Amino acid sequence: MKQKTVAIILAMVILIWIAIPRHKPNPFPVNSIIDYEKGINVHYPVTGNNNLDKKIEIFINQTIDEYTKKNLTNSFLYIHFSCYSSLFTMFRFKITIQKDPALRNFFKTSSSYKNFLALNSTKNTNIKAVANPPVETPPITPPNPNKKLIALTFDDGPNSTTKEIVDILDKYDAKGTFLILGTQIEDNKQVLIDTYNSGHEIGNHTFGHKILTSLSQKQMEEEINKTQELIKSVIGIYPTFLRPPYGAFNTKVRENCNLPILLWNKDTMDWKNREAEYIFNKSIENLEDGDILLFHDIYPSTAKAIEKLIPYLIENGYQPVTTTQLLESKGITPQDGVVYYSASKNT
Ligand code: ZN
Repeated sequence: MKQKTVAIILAMVILIWIAIPRHKPNPFPVNSIIDYEKGINVHYPVTGNNNLDKKIEIFINQTIDEYTKKNLTNSFLYIHFSCYSSLFTMFRFKITIQKDPALRNFFKTSSSYKNFLALNSTKNTNIKAVANPPVETPPITPPNPNKKLIALTFDDGPNSTTKEIVDILDKYDAKGTFLILGTQIEDNKQVLIDTYNSGHEIGNHTFGHKILTSLSQKQMEEEINKTQELIKSVIGIYPTFLRPPYGAFNTKVRENCNLPILLWNKDTMDWKNREAEYIFNKSIENLEDGDILLFHDIYPSTAKAIEKLIPYLIENGYQPVTTTQLLESKGITPQDGVVYYSASKNT
């Protein structure tokens, strides 16, 4: 009986001890201040934890909305945010934004904000080096609500055919999503920069085009992360989606990729058949609003098909937009580990 009482008291003491929140020191250097020339100061840390970062993103967007409504001029917006990631760790950061429409827009689009978080949650990073926003802000063509929206996605580049396809898209103010292979970057840096600067979306197609599901976790993460860093070193931002080679993914890939997974619901079969006419016909077969089409920007036949396809699409009331635009215009915010096949199908 006595032993039982002692055990109960001991258990209660342990429970109370666990339940008391502890203000542990920040794991990130709080004194690191990013001083963007254009007026953003960020006091570390941002958490690097998806759920928390999402909360912060929502919080910031709401604050910006309220702030914008008040229409203050020549002032600064201060946002203070602190939260617990567990009983033992507390994250705190402060953000200061100058009232500048361009900066507000930067924070209001979730993909920009996500890139911002990704840039700043890297530990041991030279803060000055990552503090510079991309050299050029790509032109944004907003989706037209009266058009049928589709996403054209291109795998395995960049290479010499990429430029041809980008030129055709640009001619018609159409946007595409380019899924970049790490091994292709070194020899085609300028193509990648030009593609991004034209306002197209850049995704990650891994480094060496291996079947991710057959790799160890470490190898898999290396295939993805190495490409993330390489792309960021060239265009200044991280890719927004992962397209696993051959569309092969499993739970391990979903849980560890830290990116939304972009598949497709329409395979144009351009990898199998090299006739432009065939690829064109395949592309428009039962085409619907919200579709995501798979192409490869490595075949001249694909470029030829695109040359015919884009004017056809525009004449028939379609607007090719980036994948993020497609999903967001249908009310979907891309989430890490979720697989997107089209604007109406994700798992
Ligand atoms: Zn591929």
